[in-house]
Amino acid sequence: MHEPTQAATAALAIDGGAPVRAKLLPYARQSIGETEVQAVVDALASDWLTTGPRVQEFERAFAATVGARHAVAVSSGTAALHVALAALELAPGDEVLVPALTFAASANAALYVGAKPVFVDVDPRTLLVDPRDVARKLSARTRALVAVDYAGQTCDYDVLVPLCASSGIELVSDACHALGAALGHRKVGTLAKLNAFSLHPAKHVTSAEGGVVTTHDDALARRMRTMRNHGIDTDLAQRERAGAHRYDLARIGWNYRLTDVQCALGRAQLARLPDFVARRAELAARYAERLAGHAFVRPLARRDGGGHAWHLYVVELELERLRVDRDEVFRALRAEGIGVQVHYRPVHTFTYYREQLGTRDGDCPVAEAAYARLLSLPLFPAMSDADQDDVLAALDKVLEAYRK
Ligand SMILES: *Cc1c(COP(=O)(O)O)cnc(C)c1O
Repeated sequence: MHEPTQAATAALAIDGGAPVRAKLLPYARQSIGETEVQAVVDALASDWLTTGPRVQEFERAFAATVGARHAVAVSSGTAALHVALAALELAPGDEVLVPALTFAASANAALYVGAKPVFVDVDPRTLLVDPRDVARKLSARTRALVAVDYAGQTCDYDVLVPLCASSGIELVSDACHALGAALGHRKVGTLAKLNAFSLHPAKHVTSAEGGVVTTHDDALARRMRTMRNHGIDTDLAQRERAGAHRYDLARIGWNYRLTDVQCALGRAQLARLPDFVARRAELAARYAERLAGHAFVRPLARRDGGGHAWHLYVVELELERLRVDRDEVFRALRAEGIGVQVHYRPVHTFTYYREQLGTRDGDCPVAEAAYARLLSLPLFPAMSDADQDDVLAALDKVLEAYRK
């Protein structure tokens, strides 16, 4: 049960008091070890800086990690979503269902292929895409659903897979938060036809920038490998081996290649994924224990039977009991040296979406109401228990000061 700490009576740093921490604790941070540094150095000294043997080695390791037939490495998580939707050959006028509460890239990817994102509301307890609203937003033009494993918790694929199949639409998983999670023995990366991951430093494993799409589908994997390289049907290494210069371009693509140097880093990071996820889960359990029954914050609910990779530790503020709004709490915690974040402003409320698609406040009321209360607390594998105690002390200090 929650007990306010002594810090609760001290002057807030935002009002000139002493901060809980002198140096800002970030909400996320990569962990790069000696093995990773050595792997990058080795790649730099090798014959290949970009598309070479390390790309395939990384792809094989990634595919094995999630249990998928294919892993296609690309230059970012955004590129992963783009080539996934492009491989489905969506056409202008097609609609793609996207949850409102996600990073903008989930919806931007639909626009890149000329399709129209249609925003779906989320479940108020878990903030995962609400299958009932998916059913409501389906139209004759709907071609795909992008399901986002928000914060690292798995969506209800046991409902979404049959729902998409019976509606004749494709299921793409934006698993950028959920590498290392599983639903029973089925790992994230195998739950949808196409599964997109990010290798950004804030995510579970990093290649500085990078992304991966996993699939069991041979033809889609081949198509995505072509698309990441302008649409060219062979890569340079294949032509070198064949001693040939000729290639064809039968569809349009982009330069979304991930370099050998990045794949060296990514592969060394991947070996540490189990430790990273275990530490994140440990910290999350400690947050949950210390925040149980808290007067001012409520951690997101766990979905029955859901898996979790703990990318984010998200809480909702009990604004009814506070004199200030979320942004004031955000600023006060930052002043205390706690790098809280907000994930996310609902995508349909952005100016571009309002102007281009005519989206409006009220389109996804659950996501909008949640947004006003959301706060992501620092969570990353290298965070110590003492760092976490600072977060909890600062939360108590700030929220007690702002209580009604
Ligand atoms: C990080 C992220 C992306 C994009 O990944 P990048 O590698 O930054 O391009 C897409 N969707 C979600 C949900 C993400 O968190």
